[in-house]
Formats: sequence, structure tokens, C-alpha cells
Amino acid sequence: MIKTISYLGLGTMGSGMASNLLKAGYELTVWNRSAEKCEPFVRKGARVADTPAGAVRDVDLVMYSLSNDQAIEEMVFGAKGILSGIKEGQIAIDMSTVLPATSLREEEAYAKRGVDFLDAPVFGSKNESADAKLWIMAAGKRDAFEKVKPVLQHLGQTIHYFGKNGNAAAMKLVGNLIVALEMEALAEGLVLAQKAGLDLSTVMEVVKVADFRSPLLVSNCQNVLKRDFSTSFALKLMLKDASLIEKFAGSLQSPIPALRVVQKNLQSAVALGFGEENASALIRALEKKAGVEVTERNQNKSTFR
Ligand code: NAP
Repeated sequence: MIKTISYLGLGTMGSGMASNLLKAGYELTVWNRSAEKCEPFVRKGARVADTPAGAVRDVDLVMYSLSNDQAIEEMVFGAKGILSGIKEGQIAIDMSTVLPATSLREEEAYAKRGVDFLDAPVFGSKNESADAKLWIMAAGKRDAFEKVKPVLQHLGQTIHYFGKNGNAAAMKLVGNLIVALEMEALAEGLVLAQKAGLDLSTVMEVVKVADFRSPLLVSNCQNVLKRDFSTSFALKLMLKDASLIEKFAGSLQSPIPALRVVQKNLQSAVALGFGEENASALIRALEKKAGVEVTERNQNKSTFR
């Protein structure tokens, strides 16, 4: 049974998950590249480590959520990285969104040390992470999955086993392809509604109830209308994911024409300086082209007749 856990990477997603592990009563060790993010966890009883290698010493389970493949490269494979501290019998879980090929590389390196590895990326954002309502996908050996499932149940509302390593990472990219297209659809739709002079609070009413509704569209539509771009999923991370999807789909010759359009708009929004804002700031690239700003202050003034 798992009692001791290390969590590495206390960003938007990792901090919510680490808090929930503490609440669930696990003995927790934390590590973050910027050490100050460890302080709130230490106050709640966590142990803090100086290096990833030190963080993983003598725990049953190691979990982490970092920005991208490069960060995994440094923290797992680098000097004083996880691999230089982890020992046979421990289990490691990568919850970041990375290429399936990166998950396979991690699996291979951990296997050489007798460590079981799961790729377990998540759907849901800042609130779902804080509220233990994530949707979690996991891939790796079935018996390792069964051992960690009770831990994952403290973090998510559903857990989906995907079989061999790399499959959960692949599913995350499939899901984020759909997310990216939904965000683009919302942005294009709202800019058109604004250009047409529609009453945007009534547009919102329809987005909430119509058969094309989705929780993602509703929350992002509300925030755009309030001009609230505070970050729960950074636009620069969505651009990172678009590049991962491009690479992954490319390796399988799977067509992604619409994703390429979203990728260009994301690049434009980053170039305009909105990379640190929420992914919904994608709309700002379209607003610039259209010469409008979408806001609920818009009155009902039809412009097309
Ligand atoms: P975030 O808030 O930007 O946090 C990123 C974390 O990675 C921080 O702890 C950061 O450390 C660390 N990091 C970055 N580069 C590093 C490096 N070279 N070495 C060591 N640590 C490094 O990101 P997030 O939103 O939590 O996302 C984490 C992962 O979950 C990403 O793969 C993202 O795509 C995925 N994801 C995010 C969401 C979401 O809605 N936010 C949803 C699902 C999945 P510092 O504090 O030192 O910068």
C-alpha cells in the first residue's frame, strides 16, 4: 500500500494535486524548480527536498507535472535528476502533457532501474485540480496501475486505463486536438457575433443551452465576455500542445488541417504578447484582424442590415 509520495512540479496543476495528497493523509515530499512554491506545502506538513534526486529518496511513489518535454528531460534525466535517486521497487508517474515518445523513453530508463512507470496526463484545469475533479488517463503495467489507483482517486473524478505506456499520453493529445478546435470555434464565433452586432449576453444564453454546448465553451465564453484572461491553462502551453499534436499526428500521417490554422492563431497571440494569459486569449489574435473587441458591454446593434 502506498503511504509516502513525492510530488515534483508545483505549478497550476501540480499544486492542486499535491494539496489533495496532503489532505488525503499521505506523507508528502515536494520539490519545485523555484523553491518558494514549496513553502505553503511545508507549512501544511510536507518535507521539502533540494534536488529531484533527493526528493524521490525512500518514498513509495513519485509523481510529477511539468511544463513540457524539455523540462522532463532536465528533471528526470539531468544531473541530480530523478533517475539518479530512484531505486528498484518504487513507482513513477508523469502527469504532464508530453509526446508519447517521451513517455516511452521514461519507461525504458525507469525499467533499467527496476522502477514501474505510468504516463498519466489529465483533463481539467486549475479548478478541477484544486477540487480533485480531474479526468485522469493512465498507461503502463496493469499491476502498477492497480497499486496507484487509490492515490489517483484522491485527485480525479474518473480514471481511465489505456494499456501500454504512451497510450495515455497519446489520448491526451487527441483530447487537446479537440480542445484546440473548440477554442478556435468559440473565438471565431464570438468575433462574428460581435461584428454582426448581436447582443452578447443573449449569445451566451444560447451557448449555455444549445446542442453544441460544452463546459469548456461555456466557461471560456463567460470569461471572454468579462475580458477575464487570468490563467488556468496558459496560451503558451496550448501552443506547446499544438506542436506536440503536429509532431504526433505527423508521425502517423494523420491529417490535422484545422489544427494548423489554430496553431497559426496561437502563434499570432503569443507574438502579440498574450502567451502568459489564459488559452482563451487566442481570440485576441482574431480580434486584431477583425478590428473589434468582444465584450458583454456590446449592445444589440445589428450591423448586417
Ligand atoms: P505551470 O503552472 O506553468 O507549471 C509548470 C511547472 O513546471 C512549474 O512547477 C515549473 O517550475 C516547472 N518547470 C518548467 N520548466 C522546468 C524545468 N526546466 N525544470 C524543472 N521544472 C520546470 O503549468 P501547469 O499549467 O501546471 O501545467 C503542467 C503540465 O500539465 C503541462 O504539461 C500542461 O500542458 C499540463 N496540463 C495543464 C492544464 C492546465 O489547465 N493548466 C491542464 C491539463 C494538463 P517553476 O515554478 O520553477 O517555473
